[in-house]
Amino acid sequence: MELNENARIDTSQVDDRRGSGGGGGLGGIPIPIGGGRGGIVGIIVAVLVALVGGGFGLNAALDGGDGSGQGDNTSLEQKCSADDALQQLDCRNTLYVNSIQAYWRTALPETFGEQYRPSKTVFFSQAVSTGCGQADSGVGPFYCPADDQVYIDLTFYRLLADQLGAQGEFAQPYVLAHEYGHHVQDLLGTEAQMRRQQQRDPGNANALSVKLELQADCYAGAWARNATGTADEQGQKIFKSISEQDIRQAIDAAEKIGDDAIQQRSGRPVNPDEFTHGTSEQRRQWFTRGYETGDPKQCDTFGSGA
Ligand SMILES: [Zn+2]
Repeated sequence: MELNENARIDTSQVDDRRGSGGGGGLGGIPIPIGGGRGGIVGIIVAVLVALVGGGFGLNAALDGGDGSGQGDNTSLEQKCSADDALQQLDCRNTLYVNSIQAYWRTALPETFGEQYRPSKTVFFSQAVSTGCGQADSGVGPFYCPADDQVYIDLTFYRLLADQLGAQGEFAQPYVLAHEYGHHVQDLLGTEAQMRRQQQRDPGNANALSVKLELQADCYAGAWARNATGTADEQGQKIFKSISEQDIRQAIDAAEKIGDDAIQQRSGRPVNPDEFTHGTSEQRRQWFTRGYETGDPKQCDTFGSGA
């Protein structure tokens, strides 16, 4: 993968809250990147909350905030307008966010006839207060439907590489594209519909969650296919190239955070009843489907073809 050094990094699409801790109480439904209670420390909290949690409105009211604009982007802005910006993890990730949102700005109206509403990515360290309640890094990156924001502690990538074995830079845009897939589901009402289904049919709650997650993987694949066509506000291409090897890195990451892989890694027997995100095989399949078709319409994990 080669990023275009002439592309402008738009830091207004992120909210840099590293350096400030969060307040507020637990009580929302964050949607993390991976499931299971083993490999990713603390993820059980998110999973439990996801299964038993209440309505978003209530949580947002309890937290007393919409989670908007609490950070300080000053140093990020400086860093990302410097010559060596692309050497910086946070600047590269900001550019990935720019590309993903540029894609959906066009793709959402084209494929689903809906306007895209931008969503910020919040960079935090260790803990953060969100519209979905207090979260810590242990849950991994997640999307909060209550405040429409993506949350990531960038040190997650180290865990992904060192502990889960998903090396390679392209795992990073994959993770972000997956989270923005949840934002798209939020905009399309898919997420709310799925929560209602879960309430009507609690016995199927995990299976429904898997469908939502696999669709987000498929959307990530659709972005990956179209990413080289994305540009900054001035029309400068964001990626110069994306190689087959990059795509393999994304697929590798998707496999490494499969429910069965995470359960195995934690030394527990593999139990399909506990799957919330899909197996390695399923995650690979759906990412690949999105990538090969480049068409988000082919990501209907809730339909009969799934
Ligand atoms: Zn997810």
